[in-house]
Amino acid sequence: MIGFELSEEQQQFQKLARDFAANEIRPVAGQHDESGEWPLAILEKAWELGLMNTKIPASCGGMELSVLDTAIMEEEIGWGCTGIATAITANTLAQVPVVVAGTPEQHQKWLAPMMEAPLMCSYAVTEPGAGSDVAGAKTVAVKKGDKYILNGQKMWITGAGHASWFFVLAKTDADAGHRGMTGFIVPADAPGVTIGKKENNMGQRASDTRGITFEDVEIPEENRLGEEGKGFLIAMKAFDYTRPLVAATCVGLGRAAMEHAIAYAKERNAFGRSIGDFQGVSFMIADMASDIEAARMLVWKSAYEIDQGRRNTLYAAYAKRFAADTCMRVATDAVQVFGGNGFNKEYPVEKLMRDAKIMQIYEGTSQIQRVIIGRELLNG
Ligand SMILES: Cc1cc2nc3c(=O)[nH]c(=O)nc-3n(C[C@H](O)[C@H](O)[C@H](O)COP(=O)(O)OP(=O)(O)OC[C@H]3O[C@@H](n4cnc5c(N)ncnc54)[C@H](O)[C@@H]3O)c2cc1C
Repeated sequence: MIGFELSEEQQQFQKLARDFAANEIRPVAGQHDESGEWPLAILEKAWELGLMNTKIPASCGGMELSVLDTAIMEEEIGWGCTGIATAITANTLAQVPVVVAGTPEQHQKWLAPMMEAPLMCSYAVTEPGAGSDVAGAKTVAVKKGDKYILNGQKMWITGAGHASWFFVLAKTDADAGHRGMTGFIVPADAPGVTIGKKENNMGQRASDTRGITFEDVEIPEENRLGEEGKGFLIAMKAFDYTRPLVAATCVGLGRAAMEHAIAYAKERNAFGRSIGDFQGVSFMIADMASDIEAARMLVWKSAYEIDQGRRNTLYAAYAKRFAADTCMRVATDAVQVFGGNGFNKEYPVEKLMRDAKIMQIYEGTSQIQRVIIGRELLNG
């Protein structure tokens, strides 16, 4: 049975997120882009409305939403501003490893407080020398009695400047490749943790990305997630949940760019006609609309698969790859429709083009999504 109708509940949640994006996010998105200021007031409101921490289990007071319901919401937040959307949704990426691999005690200790107050957490996997090649990470955790001693450096960690804890992937067996990696929960205020300066990024400037240094950080054994050697699998499993969601924000950004392009194509005249009358322009818009629709279907399918309890790695890679590439192309073409005005900060589409670029890079580049797709199809 195939159906595309949203339930009444889903429609209400979508409307809540759409109104929030229109009334709270959009009016200040440009200002945050300009200043790079962390959108604390928006995060606090999003937290109050239940637009954050959607994957936290009911046993911790969370909503435990399906990935599909979250994706429907995140498309709207992404339509508002993907920089602010990234700040809002970064928690989920750090929380999912705890949800999937944590004990009930770890759930209560690290997830439950996030339903009591608008706390942040970050997923700290990438390093200066290892991004796509996660197994090439150099951060080490050495067992000493009932503790681990953590040393290393992480890079490009979203929300790091505001997080209360990090999900950290570290080598516990340096010779065992990805099988020697283990996941840990590391409090941000643990002695030996140093958070770097906020990076001055091209787009999504409301979000916060920083490096983190760990110097002889003592981590109690009870902060280890799952068994030693299972960290790589836990870290990758998180992407099965979050790639459909990143793809959903790409759809939202694409929709925003297309709406601006349509409005401009109707009002701008050249050669005595509105530019939308030229096939060169209307075909760009036709491609935008059909690719956005296709991207949304991949988002829904990849979310539906994991919600049914099925392995969705292939579909999550389809969705992330196609939606990210679509969002970049749509934003670039929206700038083209605006002509010279598109290149100017007085108009909305240059921000969207800058914001779109990172979609093809974080949570696995578009090349890495193709590597996954190729591997899944060719090697089973
Ligand atoms: C704004 C921002 C936010 C981020 N947030 C986080 C976060 O919260 N947590 C976190 O852990 N990380 C985060 N990242 C890191 C991000 O996930 C990595 O930047 C990304 O995975 C790419 O890694 P890299 O930068 O090391 O590039 P590299 O891995 O060095 O890749 C460079 C280029 O080589 C290509 N390439 C590499 N390997 C292959 C291959 N096998 N086949 C084909 N092409 C290949 C890549 O596609 C890319 O084009 C963030 C990054 C940014 C910029």
